[in-house]
Amino acid sequence: MTVKDSGGLDWSADIPVRRREPWLALHTKMKEPIRAGALDAGKMPALQIPKDAAAIILVRPDTDPTNPEIFWARRSTKLAFLGGFYAFPGGQREPSDIEAPVRHCNDPETAAMISCGARELFEEVGVLLARGAQTLTIGQRASLLDDLESKRLAWPELLNLYGLHLDASDFTFVGRWVTPPFAPRRFDTWFFLADCPAKQQPRITEDSELESGEWIRAGDAYERWQRSEVIAVPPVLHALKTLAAGLTADLVERFLSVPQARREPTRRIEFYPNYICFPVRTPTKPPATHTNCYLVYTSREILVIDPGSPYEDEQLALADCVDDLISQGRTVREIILTHVHPDHVAGVDGLNEHFTQKHGAAVPVAAHRLTAESLKNQVSVNRFVEDDEVLKLNGEPAIRLRALYTPGHARGHFCFYDERTGALISGDNIVGFGSVLIDPPEGNMREYLDSLRTMRLLPNLSVLFGGHGPAVANPYEKIDEYISHRLQREELILAAVREGTSSPREIVERVYTDVSPKAHAMAARAVLAHLEKLEAEGLVLQTSEDAYRATGAAV
Ligand SMILES: [Zn+2]
Repeated sequence: MTVKDSGGLDWSADIPVRRREPWLALHTKMKEPIRAGALDAGKMPALQIPKDAAAIILVRPDTDPTNPEIFWARRSTKLAFLGGFYAFPGGQREPSDIEAPVRHCNDPETAAMISCGARELFEEVGVLLARGAQTLTIGQRASLLDDLESKRLAWPELLNLYGLHLDASDFTFVGRWVTPPFAPRRFDTWFFLADCPAKQQPRITEDSELESGEWIRAGDAYERWQRSEVIAVPPVLHALKTLAAGLTADLVERFLSVPQARREPTRRIEFYPNYICFPVRTPTKPPATHTNCYLVYTSREILVIDPGSPYEDEQLALADCVDDLISQGRTVREIILTHVHPDHVAGVDGLNEHFTQKHGAAVPVAAHRLTAESLKNQVSVNRFVEDDEVLKLNGEPAIRLRALYTPGHARGHFCFYDERTGALISGDNIVGFGSVLIDPPEGNMREYLDSLRTMRLLPNLSVLFGGHGPAVANPYEKIDEYISHRLQREELILAAVREGTSSPREIVERVYTDVSPKAHAMAARAVLAHLEKLEAEGLVLQTSEDAYRATGAAV
């Protein structure tokens, strides 16, 4: 499927039929939505089925076993999915992987995943982990790689033709991790540890999705994450932390000691230290199925941002995670709302009920004045957050979050910027996948583009933590992409009006040819937002309730 993470209304294009996760059926108990009609609580969001994938953690030959060197790589910042993240070479299984010769392995599925990992490793960094490959010259390996990448030879054929085979004993299984259900692409990834053959050097290949790679001591890599210098997904962090304790006899046991390494869904994701992303299931806009709640914490305090699930089981799971932080001696300072939308605020009361019952008191809720006004009689807001206000958390590390008033998607929208690390909690202004709806009158395209430009001007931005989907580790590229996507749409809309197309519905049919007709009603809202902007700029004029024409001056 193609889920475009641009700023347009591409969100329902090309979405294949998905089946529900079996575990979802167990959790159908839900609370009444907080605003009648605003949430379609009876409709469960469908989730992506994880695809098989494998990754290889390459260990350097003759490395120091107390703090081994491993090969890690940065994913290209041009990639829509997890661009800029640090990862191990790997990728998705291909149908022919199962046909590759793998010795000393009785289980065909394991053999296929070993084959997948070995193939991806060869394709991405040129290391051929096959028995018999030690006799090949560098030139021969390069020509094999060329055969594979140009698809002259399939992977199993290539191994057979050169008399090579894979041996399961060269690959140590160290866990299977499933991408949390908040991502547009989900993988069930098998991780293997393997020694790099002494005569081979990993090098990022031309066709790779990786942009750079290096040998690094696992402990040093983990420290770089602790200093918020790199961003990585939970299994990569777990691997670094586990390997940093040395290549001990119980290494595999330590790798598999967390339930997430045995396919249990990861709930608590710490892309950056002290920022927990906790996706909760919400009746949000497709293709999203979850809204990210963020727990920002120091040694003493916790901020809860956007507890958005109306479902009781999800509220309990979130409360468990917060309780865990509380049990280590912290207190919850405030619940903060980025904006008014139900999928960001529906869990506030549930969480506060929990705090009252378990800890004796509710936690104050803070939001923009306009958000508070819109939520009157639904969620009581105790304090208004002001533009440019700095929220200083007590304890270590020193976390200061600057509130940035960034309306456009919603009137009282805030982003929160951590100047020290460059992290920006971007609410629904930028999301990890799917697109942002600008729906008047709550939405305003002029203000939205101004807000994006304000965000673009922030110095030192390192990561965006959006309201949906994974973190964005290429923030400037992403913001530029959002702005240019909107402006391109707007140009087409203006051209359509100039040629006589007058109503938002007709404009959608002309301009949104890349979007499924099912999404046309939503697209019409975005067109209206663009028309309002163009009218404010004097380029179009509204002639009746549903009609616009271009102004004479601009024609
Ligand atoms: Zn929203």
